[in-house]
Amino acid sequence: MTHTKSRRLRLAALAFLGTASIIATSCSSPASDGAIPEVVTATEAGPATAEGDQMRVTLLGTASPVLNSRRMGPATLVQAGGLNLVFDAGRGAPLRLQQAGIPLGSIDGTFLTHFHSDHVNGLPDLWLTGFIPAFGGREGSFDVYGPTGTAHIANGLADTYDQDIKVRVADGEVKPETTKIVGHDFEHDGVVFDRNGVKVTMFEVQHDPKHAIEPAVGYRVDYRGHSALFSGDTIPVDNILKYGAGVDVMVHEVADFADRSKMATVFAHHTSPQQAGTIFAQTKPKMAVYSHIVNGIPGRVPGISEQELVDRTRETYQGPLTVGRDLNSFLITSDGVKATTIEPDNQYDN
Ligand SMILES: [Zn+2]
Ligand SMILES: [Zn+2]
Repeated sequence: MTHTKSRRLRLAALAFLGTASIIATSCSSPASDGAIPEVVTATEAGPATAEGDQMRVTLLGTASPVLNSRRMGPATLVQAGGLNLVFDAGRGAPLRLQQAGIPLGSIDGTFLTHFHSDHVNGLPDLWLTGFIPAFGGREGSFDVYGPTGTAHIANGLADTYDQDIKVRVADGEVKPETTKIVGHDFEHDGVVFDRNGVKVTMFEVQHDPKHAIEPAVGYRVDYRGHSALFSGDTIPVDNILKYGAGVDVMVHEVADFADRSKMATVFAHHTSPQQAGTIFAQTKPKMAVYSHIVNGIPGRVPGISEQELVDRTRETYQGPLTVGRDLNSFLITSDGVKATTIEPDNQYDN
């Protein structure tokens, strides 16, 4: 076994542990099954929960816009302080929430990073299905937070789907107050949500070199000394370093292709593995997580393997790393970060 491979496998063990455990496990034997250590293999029975001062981050969708049944569109669940918060609502977010054991009606806030459709197209489903009594029966309004333009989307959806609401209310199925969707616009960096000790801070990022795609933001969530950061779609910017310094879990986008010149414009709208590694090396998260993995287009532009994604990241970063897959879940406690995959509840599949 080469030194590089041995090191890679050893890092696998580290990837599941907080920094406090790293020294103790540095001599553990490498895995022998050839699996990529940065891919989570431990499973956990659902539903996903966080208790006391814990925070939990669960990946609901890790894809790019590519239609992939194993990877839904960008969406992440954060649980803390008795709240369920969703960051971006891409394709299939409600399906993954169901699989994680989270009733759709129990979402306390949804936060948008930007308005590319792959980050928003699960939003109407999350809102509409969430007020149907059989699937969660939300009692109050459905609240969406984000940069300026968020309220426009919320108001537009309310207008688009008003006939569904009209007939369900007339039919006696739902109460009108449970069908509301409310958008909350924020123009500047700062705290956009503060409840039960859970604070959500929005900050500007940069999606493309020409500033054509604006607004574009990321988020940091803080709760009782624990923290998580979501990069949104971005090229490397100082705000990720500023808000990501010392964060427990950093969920970062990444893009790469077998031949970068084949999709040079797309590549220029995202962060490469080497750049992400540099960001992780500077911010030192207890766990760096890739989600929103832009990795070629099947049949048109070849991507790279997960192993290659890891290898390219390892050129600039040696710390804890997970190549995210849907339903990977990161429990943040005072002991560090524990990574598992929530065993999906498929009770409706028959
Ligand atoms: Zn985007
Ligand atoms: Zn995107």
